[in-house]
Amino acid sequence: MALAVADAHVDVSGSLKGKPGPILLLGAPGAGKGTQAKDLAAKWEIPQISTGDLLRTNRDHGTPLGMKAKQIMDEGKLVPDDLVNEMVAERLKQPDTANGYILDGYPRTLGQAKWLDEHVGADAGVLPVIAVSIQVGYNELLRRITGRRNCPVCGTIYNIYLQPPKVDEKCDLDGTPLVRRSDDTEEVFRERMRTYDSQTAPVVEHYRAQGRFEAVDGSKPVNAVAAEVEAAVARLRGSGTEKTEKQNRV
Ligand SMILES: [Zn+2]
Repeated sequence: MALAVADAHVDVSGSLKGKPGPILLLGAPGAGKGTQAKDLAAKWEIPQISTGDLLRTNRDHGTPLGMKAKQIMDEGKLVPDDLVNEMVAERLKQPDTANGYILDGYPRTLGQAKWLDEHVGADAGVLPVIAVSIQVGYNELLRRITGRRNCPVCGTIYNIYLQPPKVDEKCDLDGTPLVRRSDDTEEVFRERMRTYDSQTAPVVEHYRAQGRFEAVDGSKPVNAVAAEVEAAVARLRGSGTEKTEKQNRV
């Protein structure tokens, strides 16, 4: 398996030819999606597009879409699909998206995914959206999140399971007792996971049904996960001959 991934990795730069196209990156809270999105966007020199950023930018610049969204959010309501879609459409008109982009947090619903397919597919020769999910087991995610501690004095971050301090619950640098964020509890985590799973399932199914989805093992070190995501993108962008049922179901 490791060898196969390494081989696929070598092929990436050649087969993608600097044009990875639109990629939806998925990952549960704690799966490391944010880090991977940032690293891969920098490496491939394509923008990372998140609806959170789009909403903030539109609001801060006072665009008509931004003002409409602000009004809805001020009423404590969820911004509807078509408004989010319009913001994405505006963003995708910008020339920096020509070689591709990494979507983060969008599409979040089946309706958004279908809209995006139609929108992206409107121009001939445009690569379709593909989706890669960074998967980490429940217990590993739980340890990553509930193990987090930080030093209130110097800000150093620890994880009592994965990167423990030398002395239990004390900062290595200044001996200050470490603190845990109040929402880094199993209860909060479980609720976030439930929301994530129920929201993501239909979107994943949409891409999987069309052979545009792969899952990678996110429990490995950051560099190894990055290599797996690249290999998955290369396979999804390739002829499809290398793609096996097994890889689709990792
Ligand atoms: Zn400290």
